[in-house]
Amino acid sequence: MANAENAVQLTQELIRIDTSNPPGNEENAALFLEGILGAEGIRAEIYSPAPKRANILARIRGKNRGKPVIILSHTDVVPANHNEWTVDPFGGEVRDGFVYGRGAIDMKAQTICQLLAFINLSKEGIEPEQDIVFLATCDEEVGGRNGVEFMLRNVPDLKDASFVLSEGGFIVEEDGLVHAQVSVSEKKLGQFRIQARGTGGHGSIPHKDNANEKIIRASQAILSYRWPLKPTSIVSTYLNAVLKGKRGKGFTFSSLGQSLKNKRFRDFVEGNPVYNALLRNTVTLTILKGGEKVNVIPRESSAYFDARLLPTEDHDRFFEKVRRLCGSDVELVRIGGDVGRPLQSGYNTPYFRGIQNVVRAMNGPVPVLPFLTTGATDMRYFRNLGIPAYGFFPIALSNDELLRMHGTDERVSVINIKAGLEGSLEIMKFLASCKASQ
Ligand SMILES: [Zn+2]
Repeated sequence: MANAENAVQLTQELIRIDTSNPPGNEENAALFLEGILGAEGIRAEIYSPAPKRANILARIRGKNRGKPVIILSHTDVVPANHNEWTVDPFGGEVRDGFVYGRGAIDMKAQTICQLLAFINLSKEGIEPEQDIVFLATCDEEVGGRNGVEFMLRNVPDLKDASFVLSEGGFIVEEDGLVHAQVSVSEKKLGQFRIQARGTGGHGSIPHKDNANEKIIRASQAILSYRWPLKPTSIVSTYLNAVLKGKRGKGFTFSSLGQSLKNKRFRDFVEGNPVYNALLRNTVTLTILKGGEKVNVIPRESSAYFDARLLPTEDHDRFFEKVRRLCGSDVELVRIGGDVGRPLQSGYNTPYFRGIQNVVRAMNGPVPVLPFLTTGATDMRYFRNLGIPAYGFFPIALSNDELLRMHGTDERVSVINIKAGLEGSLEIMKFLASCKASQ
């Protein structure tokens, strides 16, 4: 049942099911979750978009029809390189008070806490105002086509949800201030590659039509451009609270709008990778491909860029600018589709206030702030439908722990699993009390 020991053990077991995506193989995780629900007498449905891939959905009927509240998680994880880890990434080992493993933070402990909170609600016989849907999907780490996108096509009332709770926000400390980040928006994907063709030849006779040199010049032009710093309303609210009264080299923070006029403050922002990513489009060179032999000039070369746009930015305008920067020696190819619409949920809502109350009851009077997630999550599918979707799991993470997410030696403390379960139980009770406006 919903106690901390059980949550720790189930998190370990879920980590041991290797759901590295690609290829995913999330079916085993779905069957595992189905087994836990089944043992409590709760029927779940499994939806398979492809062999070995699976999504699982369970539902507690509410007093009112329609407008379900969705508790959303994903069961897949990003791959882990065994050689770089000090423990088996799929061992689920407990060491020094931490459960280690790929997915510990992103997001298997949360999946288990949400599941146990869901089961608890059902066992207590509480009839929620709206249906509460537990949904754990596959494929999030590679874009969600087989996961949330598939489920939205196959379970019609998901499109009519009143609220979605998922991942992306935690309790953290930034510039000395402990606060809760509730993710209400995320940056947009703008990934692309540039490719060049040239004339091959022998390395001993250089010429001007070298594909690698074209890629280097164009990459340099793209990377040296500084995208404008643009405070969006969420980031302004967030940074105005976090940086209040901060004194730095050559600045005293007053308000974001005011402080951004100060060159020293802009230097400070640019020196902080997180603040920098919150305030502008970012373009990161991630893959370089060109040449195979030291004495051969390659005919083709390419570079891949992971670009993330502020939610207020326009894709076409962004790519126009990139095209101008990289010039006509290379071809620009966009990767992935255009999401297009603003990906922002409002935060002046009963849902935000309810989460805030739970956080403060557990942690004292800490600020609870809206946050912009720099990565992409499945919540964008719901936000694009106009459904408010928040990312939050009530555990306190250090920067070290956050960096391990998608990195090496990812881990979650046993204490945090306990807090995560307690918080999830409270949030679930709150969500059960929410009546959707019709
Ligand atoms: Zn995730």
